[in-house]
Amino acid sequence: MADPPLTGAPRIDVAVIGGGPAGLAAATALKEAGIGRVVVLEREPQAGGIPRHCGHPPFGMREFGRILRGPVYAARLVARAERAGVEIRTLATVAGIRPGGHLLVALPEGLIDLAARRVTYATGVRETPRAARLIGGARVQGVMNTGALQSMVYLKGRRPFRRPVIIGSELVAFSAIMTCRHAGIRPVAMIEAAPRITARWPAALYPRLAGVPLLTGTRLLEIRGGPRVTGVSVAGPDGQKREIACDGVVLSGQFTPEASLARLGHLALDPGTGGPVVDQWGRCSDPSYFATGNLLRPVETAGWSWAEGRRCGRWVAEDLAGRLPAPSGALKLETSDPRLKYVMPQRIALPRSGSGMGDLQLRVTRPVRGELCALNESGILWRRKIHALPERRMLVPLADLALPGGAGTIRFEIREETA
Ligand SMILES: Cc1cc2nc3c(=O)[nH]c(=O)nc-3n(C[C@H](O)[C@H](O)[C@H](O)COP(=O)(O)OP(=O)(O)OC[C@H]3O[C@@H](n4cnc5c(N)ncnc54)[C@H](O)[C@@H]3O)c2cc1C
Repeated sequence: MADPPLTGAPRIDVAVIGGGPAGLAAATALKEAGIGRVVVLEREPQAGGIPRHCGHPPFGMREFGRILRGPVYAARLVARAERAGVEIRTLATVAGIRPGGHLLVALPEGLIDLAARRVTYATGVRETPRAARLIGGARVQGVMNTGALQSMVYLKGRRPFRRPVIIGSELVAFSAIMTCRHAGIRPVAMIEAAPRITARWPAALYPRLAGVPLLTGTRLLEIRGGPRVTGVSVAGPDGQKREIACDGVVLSGQFTPEASLARLGHLALDPGTGGPVVDQWGRCSDPSYFATGNLLRPVETAGWSWAEGRRCGRWVAEDLAGRLPAPSGALKLETSDPRLKYVMPQRIALPRSGSGMGDLQLRVTRPVRGELCALNESGILWRRKIHALPERRMLVPLADLALPGGAGTIRFEIREETA
């Protein structure tokens, strides 16, 4: 069936930018809430987001009550959205955003302007590429992020190398090992600069089970070779330089939100999360735009992003029904503590009502043991003992904070325990 035209009456009620788990969940929830025309704009040939090329489990427990491989999970999310009446337009890249829900969309047939009453912005995250990691050495073939490796292996059936090193130990690095094993690729080492692995147990057991040596406290210095990778130089925990022979490098993790549209457009961005500044409903600095999923902050699982998308869809529906307060006053939530990476949402719109995010999401930049404190000009409002590690979610129930009713600023900081 041909894709429906995007312009002309009736005007689109909600345009969803990005057809990953969060965008599809938001769109489905909007239709279930009775919203008229909901269109997902997805730049790839198929919707489904990152799981489309994660040919391994585990996806779908929260959404479908069973463990699925990524492509099956993605296809189920698409089918559910279509059944609910969502229009999914693929090969539709949103190339610009403008105030009031006006989008510039690149389609195979050319550029069009699109107007929507509300926009749900759900473009996910990307792994940090080589150039931004300041890795020395040769510019050679065979260096890629996990996402690119997965598209080659699962979508194109290619084997880009046979003996790569994997850099990083976030959860996604274990996806890289699974992808390699699927393609008959044998990683020669997993290299982590920190003294311990980043992902939670039991993921930490996986490299050993898969026979991949894990080198913690080890830093990648240079990539060698030409025209293809022939090895890497690393510095170990003792500072000594050593060479590892390999024919590829997988740069995993170090996610940043895919927020180019906000950066090039008019939405306020938070340097902590790298995503748009939002209030407790995911509403951006332009109230026609709502953000959800991993775009809000790096990085959560597909199930978490899906659940956020669903809630956001309901909040957008509430807003269309005039049930969210106009964004006039707000409490600002912020941190200048270098041990805290971010606090999200960054604003609590006033007056507060029953709906909206129940928790603040925070992360630390390094291992910390101490007290997390919320302060305003009158002093400490709230405190809680924490033992936190980087890239691990920290949640603070908003109800616990006893936030003041009026506008103002709440700062978050950590008071560390001394040994
Ligand atoms: C390699 C890898 C392996 C992973 N493995 C697992 C796992 O095993 N289990 C798990 O639970 N989670 C896993 N995750 C995490 C999971 O994939 C994400 O949490 C989830 O996909 C986030 O959903 P999202 O909708 O926020 O973003 P995404 O899935 O990234 O979707 C965003 C969508 O927006 C589209 N888009 C971006 N910009 C534009 C634009 N300008 N115009 C139109 N469309 C646009 C993209 O093409 C994409 O389809 C993995 C992630 C990666 C990178």
